[in-house]
Amino acid sequence: MAERSYDFLMPSVNFFGPGVISKLGDRAKMLGMKKPVIVTDKFLEGMKDGAVQQSLKSLDAAGVDYVIYNNVEPNPKIRNIKEVKKLYEDSGADSIITIGGGSAHDTGKGAGIILTNGDDITKLAGIETLDKALPPLIAVNTTAGTGSELTRHAVITNEETHLKFVVVSWRNIPLVSFNDPTLMLDVPKGLTAATGMDAFVQSIEPYVSVDHNPITDSQCIEAIKLIETSLREAVANGHNLEARTKMVEAEMLAGMAFNNANLGYVHAMAHQLGGQYDAPHGVCCALLLPYVEEYNIIACPERFAELAKIMGENTDGLSTRDAAELSIKAMKQMSQDVGIPASIKEIGAKPEDFELMAENALKDGNAFSNPRKGTKEDIIKIFQAAYDAK
Ligand code: NAD
Repeated sequence: MAERSYDFLMPSVNFFGPGVISKLGDRAKMLGMKKPVIVTDKFLEGMKDGAVQQSLKSLDAAGVDYVIYNNVEPNPKIRNIKEVKKLYEDSGADSIITIGGGSAHDTGKGAGIILTNGDDITKLAGIETLDKALPPLIAVNTTAGTGSELTRHAVITNEETHLKFVVVSWRNIPLVSFNDPTLMLDVPKGLTAATGMDAFVQSIEPYVSVDHNPITDSQCIEAIKLIETSLREAVANGHNLEARTKMVEAEMLAGMAFNNANLGYVHAMAHQLGGQYDAPHGVCCALLLPYVEEYNIIACPERFAELAKIMGENTDGLSTRDAAELSIKAMKQMSQDVGIPASIKEIGAKPEDFELMAENALKDGNAFSNPRKGTKEDIIKIFQAAYDAK
């Protein structure tokens, strides 16, 4: 790895901390946005003094006009990005502001992609497939989380084939991101747990990825420590601003890490569960994590032994293999503590779907950086282990 060269992607401007949302209007104006499409959902739009209302207040104060698309769905579908494109064109909009979690950001990115790179987004699945810049895009983030507000990934579901696919390009990175933890104080327990587990997985997969480097390692280590000390508290006491702030710092670090070191089989397989059963992404990731990483241990046992220490396990006197196993135990404990169910049965998974999902997982853009190269049969066994889990 020492001889390898790599490029390192960072989003350009990121506003972070309690109260930063008030700067949205000025920043939009500074970027020359005259009429953005606001991409969000009805629930967030209706939240009293929530992220959407505070964003609109700031845009109004800066004299920035806008139109609102409020139909974002979880696991955003191709129909959603087409609807945003139509509204953008019909209303004479010139830019996009996404307000929400990963689904809102990916809907905005997906619409931006088809506005400038051609209508059939399924042809653009893969890595660095985009030739043209997206319209200017600001992401106001409300979950901690996916990191989508600062990543080069857009995850879209084809509602006809139930396939969830990824378009990965530096052109997808929003120009500006906002992460204001005061907007996350009312995120319900279940969503806090699911999104927090997504951030946890996004700190672990880049750490053991074949593409990791010293910069991404340091981001993953800090993100895992922050999650270890704040996710349980954020779930138990959502109004603890310090815990929410630490979770935002963690998800940003994880986002930067996987933007560069990529992910692995947890995400490649979670996309199949999400596409097939329309299940929450963070829950899918959490359910698969220990079983994928148990499979991965033999590829890099030292990295897993380090992970155990980072997660606060006592590895003194243990063999590398035994220390590595402790990291899996810590992953299961975290999931259990925050209330994630034990088995993929709970989200409707069916063994008869495993073969097709395994085939598709191996083609997912996240599969290529997994530390151990698997066969279809290996992936089926991992799905089965996550199904049999109690
Ligand atoms: P989400 O965006 O799907 O939101 C889930 C629900 O939470 C929605 O109903 C929304 O209304 C609600 N919500 C959002 N913010 C809230 C708040 N502050 N208070 C109360 N409710 C709130 O959830 P998510 O986990 O952030 O995003 C998941 C999506 O992101 C999946 O499609 C996943 O594949 C994708 N993803 C993308 C990337 C990327 O880099 N592009 C990375 C990981 C995951």
